[in-house]
Amino acid sequence: MSANTSTRIGFIGLGIMGRSMAGHILTAGYRLNVYNRSRDKADELVARGATWCDTPGDVAAASDIVITMVGFPHDVEQIYLGENGIVARANRGAVLIDMTTSSPALAERIAAEADKKKCYAIDAPVSGGDVGARDAKLAIMVGGDPAAFEKALPVLQRMGTSIVLQGGAGAGQHTKMCNQIVIASTIMGVCEGLAYGKRAGLDLDTVLKSIGGGAASGFQLNVLGTRIIKGDFAPGFFIEHFIKDLGIALAEAHCMQLDLPGVSLARKLYEQLAAQGYGRNGTQALFKHYEK
Ligand code: NAP
Repeated sequence: MSANTSTRIGFIGLGIMGRSMAGHILTAGYRLNVYNRSRDKADELVARGATWCDTPGDVAAASDIVITMVGFPHDVEQIYLGENGIVARANRGAVLIDMTTSSPALAERIAAEADKKKCYAIDAPVSGGDVGARDAKLAIMVGGDPAAFEKALPVLQRMGTSIVLQGGAGAGQHTKMCNQIVIASTIMGVCEGLAYGKRAGLDLDTVLKSIGGGAASGFQLNVLGTRIIKGDFAPGFFIEHFIKDLGIALAEAHCMQLDLPGVSLARKLYEQLAAQGYGRNGTQALFKHYEK
């Protein structure tokens, strides 16, 4: 399906991920309305032709499709369901796409509120990290109405390469929890493997040349492992956001009476790091735990 670039797009949340994602939409020729809590993060996009709006509600009123990429579920709740928020000001038939990693139950609630306003809300969290956002190669996992998904698809294709409808409202967020559960134990394994290699006196660059091309390869080892070896603990993906995700996963698993010991341990280790002041570091800073 080709993109109809006369569609007006709104984008709220212009942090590490959102700024790159919104940039691709602008590059594709869409008219773009933007808002972010700290205005300076919109400067570059506004200089490239995006229109600044003063509130999330103003973005919604000026747009046919609204995309959000904020931090935490409470941010999502505030911008969607708050007074004069996105749902209150959305146009009839609009598609509202939350790409934040957030709670499945909240996604269902927003979809129900949007339905009352005769518009659609879909949840579409992503995987692929800061690199995937920059390269427009995100994996996008979607929950919601199939017709709204079809309407959103040309825009989502500007940001990602794997875009899959997983089911109804909330199914995108549940799928993202599967992703975070896999990552929780994987990043612990990466840090433990590299800590072991270091203690054994190996050259970690050389170690990565071998194990990064074998069965252990993947984003966590090849991208984050490389950052660990360079001593680069800048975010990428904030530890405080990962703690949020692990909390959502554990709460949902608890409701399903499912025990996830790997996730519980990862949350404990990351909470210890956050208490030591590393919450705004990237998740690869888990390596510091093993360096003690
Ligand atoms: P980030 O850099 O903190 O970006 C979030 C942006 O949203 C910030 O610029 C923030 O404003 C803005 N924001 C937060 N609450 C807002 C509100 N109520 N109204 C308006 N703007 C608001 O985080 P990020 O790394 O881009 O991550 C965004 C989301 O994607 C998170 O849920 C994260 O878990 C998820 N995610 C991240 C990655 C990754 O690798 N980074 C990968 C997949 C998914 P300020 O500038 O004022 O803080």
